[in-house]
Amino acid sequence: MKKRPLWKCDVCGYIHEGETPPDSCPVCGASADMFSAFHPSASVDDGVKPGTEDARRIVIVGGGIAGLTGAEYARRTSNTAQITLIVHPDEGLPYYRLNLTRLVAGEMVEANLPLKDPEFYTAQRIEVRAATAASVDNEAKQLHLADGNVLAYDRLVLATGAVPFVPPWPGSNLPGVCALRTRADAQALIAKLPAGRRCICIGGGLLGLEAAFGLARRGVYVTVLEAAPTLLARQLVAPAGKLLEQHLGGLGLQCRCGVAVQHIDGPTTATGVTLATGETLKADVVLVAAGIRPDLRLAKTAELHCNKGLVVDDRGVTSDTDILAAGDCTEHRGNLYGLWSAAYAQGLVAGCNAAGGNESLQTLTPSSRLKVVDLSVLSIGEFAATPSPQDVVERALGPSYIRLVRRDGRLVGANLVGDTGLDLAVTSAMDTAQPLTNFADLSALFAPTQI
Ligand SMILES: Cc1cc2nc3c(=O)[nH]c(=O)nc-3n(C[C@H](O)[C@H](O)[C@H](O)COP(=O)(O)OP(=O)(O)OC[C@H]3O[C@@H](n4cnc5c(N)ncnc54)[C@H](O)[C@@H]3O)c2cc1C
Repeated sequence: MKKRPLWKCDVCGYIHEGETPPDSCPVCGASADMFSAFHPSASVDDGVKPGTEDARRIVIVGGGIAGLTGAEYARRTSNTAQITLIVHPDEGLPYYRLNLTRLVAGEMVEANLPLKDPEFYTAQRIEVRAATAASVDNEAKQLHLADGNVLAYDRLVLATGAVPFVPPWPGSNLPGVCALRTRADAQALIAKLPAGRRCICIGGGLLGLEAAFGLARRGVYVTVLEAAPTLLARQLVAPAGKLLEQHLGGLGLQCRCGVAVQHIDGPTTATGVTLATGETLKADVVLVAAGIRPDLRLAKTAELHCNKGLVVDDRGVTSDTDILAAGDCTEHRGNLYGLWSAAYAQGLVAGCNAAGGNESLQTLTPSSRLKVVDLSVLSIGEFAATPSPQDVVERALGPSYIRLVRRDGRLVGANLVGDTGLDLAVTSAMDTAQPLTNFADLSALFAPTQI
């Protein structure tokens, strides 16, 4: 079946399929010009190849974007396979997990969360089963469900996602200590934090800042605590992080970087946080956004090779050739992507291959975007690399900051903060890996007189 072109929203990572980009992104509302052509791999771009139809029973565990995309592309590859998608009973049909921060901010309603209408699954002959998968018997090729049922499979796809990491501070298991990963988490935060309440958000990464800003928009008094010296330490070099901190401070969001949490205050419910300095900060809710860990519980029952994540090759295959995996639970070429677009691309490849296709995935260039009211932030590739000085451009222009890194004449990473007008040129140069001479505006920035 010939696949139509894919387009990736540069703002939120949403993937759209069609001859042209959509008028606006259904996830974040970005306009059509914020979409770039998306190529998950050279072979997938050529069109999904029909499968050999050898996998009659495909079972996919996990109803996130990776599992859903896996089911969708398994069906595109095989018209006859029996496809079962196991969704967690607490989660229901797949939804836009990355939009939970917008839900918390009151920018969207729950009715707009589902990724597909129920009719989609019927039309695609994807059987959706609400169940918890308990264990895998690789020898018998059977998946055991917690309700006692057993499903036989020819190919199994694990797309079990990730779970929030909550460091083991004293008091971290008190009621009132929350994370944001699921729709239920978002509902609980909204219920506990009406306007005027106080929240301490531990973690100044992408999720922490988006959640904190969303709560602040509801009228909650939020303080962000970050252990690193600057915000978004994994995405931005220090000057860019400082600029972001100033900007957020101007909007009333207090951020404190370089602070260490000693414990969460109790005794029966969380009442605040005590720092290593002994200072105590009061709060009604403590939101922990300290990263995620791949959910490997099911993979381990099958004794699959796990490192930090469930290790997969370029075809999405695990150490058991009949078990594939995709999304946040995986480790691919040493990378734990933790990104929507990567989970989509991996789901596509694993779904095709589970149905007998032959697709593969190259290393994906990590890129992150954040939009804080009028301040856009782009982090892409090897932004922190320090090659020779003539291969780095770094500029602070009032509220904007630019850092570009090139190697062998090609752009390999960038940080852009504020409206620099370079976003599309940068993403295009990274996507195509063309020499910078093809991007006049970027190559001019590397000219010695401009530095
Ligand atoms: C609030 C928030 C905002 C985000 N914003 C962005 C963003 O702006 N940009 C970006 O690129 N990424 C963002 N992300 C990350 C992105 O959402 C994830 O990378 C993506 O959703 C991962 O998809 P997945 O399908 O691999 O896993 P998940 O979406 O976690 O889905 C896995 C599913 O499997 C289920 N499951 C697990 N084990 C079992 C089992 N044994 N039986 C049955 N079901 C099981 C889980 O309950 C879950 O429903 C955000 C994440 C969050 C939480």
